[in-house]
Amino acid sequence: GGSLYLVGTPIGNLEDMTFRAVRILKECDIIAAEDTRQTRKLLTHFEITPQLLFSYHEHNKAASGPELIRYIIEGKNLALVSDAGLPAISDPGSDLVQLAIAEGIPVIPIPGPNAALSALIVSGLSTERFTFIGFLPRDRKDVQSVLSSVQYAQGTLLMYESPHRIIKTLGFLLEFLGNRRIVLARELTKRYEEMVRGSIEDCLEWMGDHPPIGEYVLVLEGASQEEEQKQKDAWWQELSLEEHVT
Ligand code: SAM
Repeated sequence: GGSLYLVGTPIGNLEDMTFRAVRILKECDIIAAEDTRQTRKLLTHFEITPQLLFSYHEHNKAASGPELIRYIIEGKNLALVSDAGLPAISDPGSDLVQLAIAEGIPVIPIPGPNAALSALIVSGLSTERFTFIGFLPRDRKDVQSVLSSVQYAQGTLLMYESPHRIIKTLGFLLEFLGNRRIVLARELTKRYEEMVRGSIEDCLEWMGDHPPIGEYVLVLEGASQEEEQKQKDAWWQELSLEEHVT
């Protein structure tokens, strides 16, 4: 049988395409892409002529996943790309990986750019521990539940957000996690790349004069040691209360 390659592609700057990614895309039998029109532009730029370009996205993956797996079992090498960055990171791919693993198909990473990690390393916030949250849910209650699960975590928090929702999201972060330090990493690797560093309140104020445009990663400071300690104290208090009751 063939192999499944997960191929990283640029998050804006085409120079970030790796030599290996180009070679794998040239040599494979099938390219599965989130948006075939978008991917065609990339392929044209690198003079890659796919033998078969297959659509694989959120809405057809239930049907097209098993079909792609059959091709691989028959001996085809398949390369999966998303619109930008690493497949399977806030993008389709992880379902296909699971199907492949279940069939004993080799799954091979072709590393490339990733927006969250690129933002993290230039943020100036702790890189020692971090939690990737991806896109927050839309509903306020769901946002609260996600954020309460990381409220006391000391690691840096990484989120993706669209420009249309970023102000609302900053409001939620302020409300549920307090006025922490945050870095807005905008348009990474592109012409208007920009870092905005400050407190959440600073950033909200800044956005008053600079309406959000483009793509953003939010890099948020983790809980302080005092916050983590506060939670531990609260647990102890609960425990001792329970002891009193029993
Ligand atoms: N798979 C991608 C990766 O590995 O980074 C992420 C795909 S996700 C659907 C798209 C989101 O990633 C955007 O809404 C934005 O939050 C973030 N993003 C992608 N490219 C970016 C860039 N050049 N600068 C800042 N954020 C970016």
